[in-house]
Amino acid sequence: MTSTTLEKLAGKTALVTGGSRGIGAAIAKRLASDGASVAITYSKDADAAGTVVKSIESAGGKALAIQADASNSEAVANAVEQTVKKFGRLDVLVNNAGTAIPRPFEEASMEELDRVIDINLRGIFVATKAALKHIGKGGRIIMIGSCLGERNMTSGLASYAATKGAVKMLAQGLAREVGDRGITVNNVQPGPIDTDLNPAAGEGATPQIANTALKRYGHVDEVAALVAFVAGPEAGYITGANLTVDGGTNA
Ligand code: NDP
Repeated sequence: MTSTTLEKLAGKTALVTGGSRGIGAAIAKRLASDGASVAITYSKDADAAGTVVKSIESAGGKALAIQADASNSEAVANAVEQTVKKFGRLDVLVNNAGTAIPRPFEEASMEELDRVIDINLRGIFVATKAALKHIGKGGRIIMIGSCLGERNMTSGLASYAATKGAVKMLAQGLAREVGDRGITVNNVQPGPIDTDLNPAAGEGATPQIANTALKRYGHVDEVAALVAFVAGPEAGYITGANLTVDGGTNA
C-alpha cells in the first residue's frame, strides 16, 4: 500500500453487502487498500468471509465480517449498526449482495421470484434506509446492478433483470432525495464477470462472451476499480448515474 492510495478513503468506513466472495470480496479488498475500514456481510460462508477479513488485516487494514442474510431485514439493519459501533461511522454503502435463479419465467415458482426480489431489491431498501441514518456529507451509496437492468439478451433471467432495472431506478430517484445532504447515489452495472454466480467456464458463458465487444469475461477487480472511483473524492459530482462495466455488452 502506498500513501497515495491510502489517502483516498483514509478515515472512512465502508459496508459491502455480500462481501465474502466474487465481486463483493474484490470491492471490499480494494476499498480497504484505498484506506477505508471495511465491514462485509455474508449469508452462509463464514470461512470465505473470514478469509477476506484476514487478507485485509494482513495488508494493514481494518475489517469486520457480519453474518446477515439480505432477505432478513432485522439482520441487515443490525449489520449497519454493528459497522457503526465497531468503526464509529459509515461513509460508503455498497449494495452488492444479489443472486439469480435462472429459469424460464413461466416455470419459476412464486417462492423463487420472491427470493430474487427479497435479496436483490428489498435487501437494498433495508440496508440503504439503515445506512442513511449514519451517512453524512460526502457519503456514497453504490448499487451493484447489472447490464441486464438496461438490456436483457439472456433467456431465463427476466425476473433477475426486473430487479436490476428496479435498482437502477432506485439509484436515480434516491440520488435526488439525498443530494442536498452531499450524498451521492450511483448504480454500477457489471456485465459478465467471472465469479461463482457466473463462471467463465460455465455452460452459459459462450453467448455472454459473444455479446461483449471485448470477447471476454470481466475480472472482479475491473468492477472493484470502478466502485473505488465512485467511492472516492474525485467522483463528488457524479450522482444518479448508471455506470456500466460490461466489456461492451450493451454497446
Ligand atoms: P457470487 O455468488 O459470486 O457472490 C455473492 C456474494 O454475496 C457472496 O459473498 C455471498 O456470500 C453473498 N450473498 C449471497 N446471497 C446472499 C444473501 N442472501 N445475503 C447476504 N449475502 C449474500 O456473486 P457475484 O459476485 O457474481 O455477484 C455480486 C453482485 O454482482 C450481485 O448483485 C450480482 O447480481 C451482480 N452482478 C454479477 C454479475 C456477474 O456476471 N458475476 C453480472 C452483473 C451483476 P454467502 O455465500 O456467504 O452468502
